Amino acid sequence: MIKYRLACDKGHEFDAWFKCSAAFEVQRDNGHLACAHCASKKIDRAIMAPALARNRGTLINAEDEKKRKAVNELIERVERDFDYVGDKFADEARKTHYGESAKRDIYGEATFDEAVDLLSEGVPVLPLPKPARKKD
Ligand SMILES: [Zn+2]
Repeated sequence: MIKYRLACDKGHEFDAWFKCSAAFEVQRDNGHLACAHCASKKIDRAIMAPALARNRGTLINAEDEKKRKAVNELIERVERDFDYVGDKFADEARKTHYGESAKRDIYGEATFDEAVDLLSEGVPVLPLPKPARKKD
């Protein structure tokens, strides 16, 4: 079962469960779906809110095995040589950058907004193409 957020042509949104994406299309095309608020039959999947879309991470697709290896080596190197700071990344990156704590290489998690703030302050942060392993 998959849950879809649906919207009618008048902009009402509601959630509905379907066996699969094809089942949703069949029910919609046969006019078996109606808006929970106004009974309109012009239903489609709701566009994801921008706030949700902004939380998506960056992905790369390396078909070339050598390039894929290079990416994995980079991640391994980060995991081996950088200090893991978890969700305190933004604070720690700032402290390091402004000299409030000793210079060191760190990695950890940050939100999109935190990353934008850091970059606009000139703190050199980079996204990793996939989440690195978390250290305790
Ligand atoms: Zn409606």
